[in-house]
Parts: sequence; structure tokens; C-alpha cells
Amino acid sequence: MNIILLGSPGAGKGTQATALEEATGMKHIASGDMFRTAVKEGTPLGKLAQSYLDNGELVPDDVVIGMVLERVTQPDCANGVIFDGFPRTPEQARALQEALQNHDDCISAVLLLHVPKEALIQRVIGRWTCRNCQAVYNTYYLAPHEAGICDECGGDLYQRSDDNLETINHRLEVYTAQTMPLVAHYQQQGILHEIDGQGDVNEVTARMVQAMTLANPC
Ligand code: AMP
Repeated sequence: MNIILLGSPGAGKGTQATALEEATGMKHIASGDMFRTAVKEGTPLGKLAQSYLDNGELVPDDVVIGMVLERVTQPDCANGVIFDGFPRTPEQARALQEALQNHDDCISAVLLLHVPKEALIQRVIGRWTCRNCQAVYNTYYLAPHEAGICDECGGDLYQRSDDNLETINHRLEVYTAQTMPLVAHYQQQGILHEIDGQGDVNEVTARMVQAMTLANPC
């Protein structure tokens, strides 16, 4: 089974994908995380991607498609993949579908997380992540006990360079223009499931697990 998580920046895709990975044994693949790692390591891919990330623009389709499709051929993806942040354009969706079909595989379900805009902005501009264990905090409603330090492991907390008010507004526009068309695309295929992304994290996970019981077998 392969699942796509759709939703605007700050909708909770990363948090939910991590929870679903634990609940299902499927592999969580986050294109944004792959780019951030490449930027941190200073690889050629990271150098190419950095300005797109900093400006809230999408990295060109051919680069993203090549990176993600190469990643899913690795053995840890054999039990199915939870795609987080990919596909984000119709071209990426086409490429993914074609690659899966070539392996007699498919997308079983697309889970669309809904969160109102005011909440999205608060989630994004207040977000701090642990460099060591990736735990996520929020200065508005889930602050760490000591500012800048992870409660779980004592690691340093950092803010993503694109999690600021100016960039989030642009990322939301990019989402509306380039990624929203995928909603109709997957709706037509009958595999779209809309999920209320607000409320307790565990409750949202439970809604997603419930939607997955309706997923199409490949
Ligand atoms: P995310 O962590 O999913 O919010 O992604 C952070 C940034 O990485 C985006 O604003 C883009 O610059 C880049 N990115 C991640 N996934 C994609 C994708 N599927 N297509 C193009 N750019 C992407």
C-alpha cells in the first residue's frame, strides 16, 4: 500500500506521517526533509535546492522526481510508502503514477489534511524542531520547558529558515496555485479522503488510520 499525504504547509503532514509510520510499518518519505539534509550536508543537490527552499518556491520537477523515485527503489520502501510533500505538482503526480504502474503498484489512498489558514500560520511561525531527535514544539501551544532545548533528549531546537511570516504566505500561495489541482485529480480517481487536521494529534492520527481502512488494494 502507498499513501500520499496532501495538505498545505503546517497542516501536520510530517507529524502525522511519523505517527502513521509507527502504526503501520510503512516508510515515511518527506521530500522537504531530503532537501534540508542535502542543504545541511552541502551536496550539489543541496546547493541547487537552497534558494528555492529559502524563498518558499518549489524545486524544479525533474530534480524532485529524480530524487524521490530513486529513493523509493530502496529496500526499506518494500512494505509501502507514506509520501509527505510529494507529489506537489500535476507533473510530479504523473511521474509517480507511471513509476508505480511500471512495478504493478499503485497509490492506495490520498489523505488530505484540512486546517484553517490562521491555525496554519501559527503552527508554522511557532514551530521549533529538535536537531537530534526531530521532536516538534510550538512556542504558542507546545513550548519546551526551557527555550531552545528539547524536553525529550536535551538536543538543540532550531527553526526552519522558511518558517517565517513572509515565506509562509508565499508558500501558501504556491500550494494553492500548484498543488491544489491535485485534489481534483485524485478525487476523480476516487482515492481522495478528506481529514479534519485540527485537534489532538492522536485523534487526527486515528482519523487517518480509519480512512486508510477504506484504501484501494493495488
Ligand atoms: P516541506 O518540508 O514539505 O514544507 O518542503 C520544504 C521546501 O522543500 C518547499 O518549500 C520546497 O522548496 C521544497 N520541496 C519539498 N518537496 C517538494 C516537491 N515535491 N516539489 C518541489 N519542491 C519541494
